[in-house]
Amino acid sequence: MGHLKNNYHTHNRLCNHATGDVDDYVKKAIALGMEELGLSDHGPVLTRFMSKEMFLETLSYRNMSLDTFYNVYLPEIEQVKEQYNEQIKIYKGLEIEYIQGEEEFYKELLSRLDYMNLGLHFFKDSNGNIINSYWNINHENVIEYALAAIKGMSTGLFKVLVHPDLFMFGYKNKDGKREFDNECVKASRMIIEAAIKYDCYVEVNVNGLKNSKKYNSDAWLYPSYEFWKLASEYKDLKIIIGVDAHNPDDLDCSDIDQVLDFCKRLNLNISEKIDFK
Ligand SMILES: [Zn+2]
Ligand SMILES: [Zn+2]
Repeated sequence: MGHLKNNYHTHNRLCNHATGDVDDYVKKAIALGMEELGLSDHGPVLTRFMSKEMFLETLSYRNMSLDTFYNVYLPEIEQVKEQYNEQIKIYKGLEIEYIQGEEEFYKELLSRLDYMNLGLHFFKDSNGNIINSYWNINHENVIEYALAAIKGMSTGLFKVLVHPDLFMFGYKNKDGKREFDNECVKASRMIIEAAIKYDCYVEVNVNGLKNSKKYNSDAWLYPSYEFWKLASEYKDLKIIIGVDAHNPDDLDCSDIDQVLDFCKRLNLNISEKIDFK
């Protein structure tokens, strides 16, 4: 089965929906002969960022707390960095949502990390509403998703926009069908062009395959063929593949081969390593 030389999208038990602790992921990566591993569990979402209702709906209660971030997550990563420092290069990261106006919060987190992945599982639209990116994106608000992604990237706080095409998961066109329509084209180009402008990597997400099967879809809900077909037109776009591992075994699975094949067919120019300079 396939694995990547380097992976920068790796979860662990602290998000309460992944298996294994950081040590298990690092050991697996070493056993596979991987060179770099970025640990990027789901970062804290503060209750004050949204209503109680939305906090529940977006499953934000599952994420590690700020206290866990400082007192468990960071020390655990320090520990593996030290322990395995001759066998693998470990980067300290987070995958995190972006709430506009909370830059100080993100800056403080980043000051303790090597990098952050921006993952918009939900976002705040221009009316201040929280929109769930899996279930509630349609032809009327997909541009808002793009604008939220662009605002996030423009802060320069995020190294990678992970699964930029997540909006296609449950997208509805004007007839209520899941179709990559003109609004999707517009939103995608906006995201891609901003990623180039703000020098942010975009990620082809391997976990999309599992997530598609989980919801009984034979087709990939994401990565979206149409999104990445558009992306292939932009030669300056920086693209990486991310496993989005929620189990150590995810680092070595046939879904990785399928995604590598997908990228090859689309002639995507994939960066094997993130440039952390
Ligand atoms: Zn997750
Ligand atoms: Zn993830």
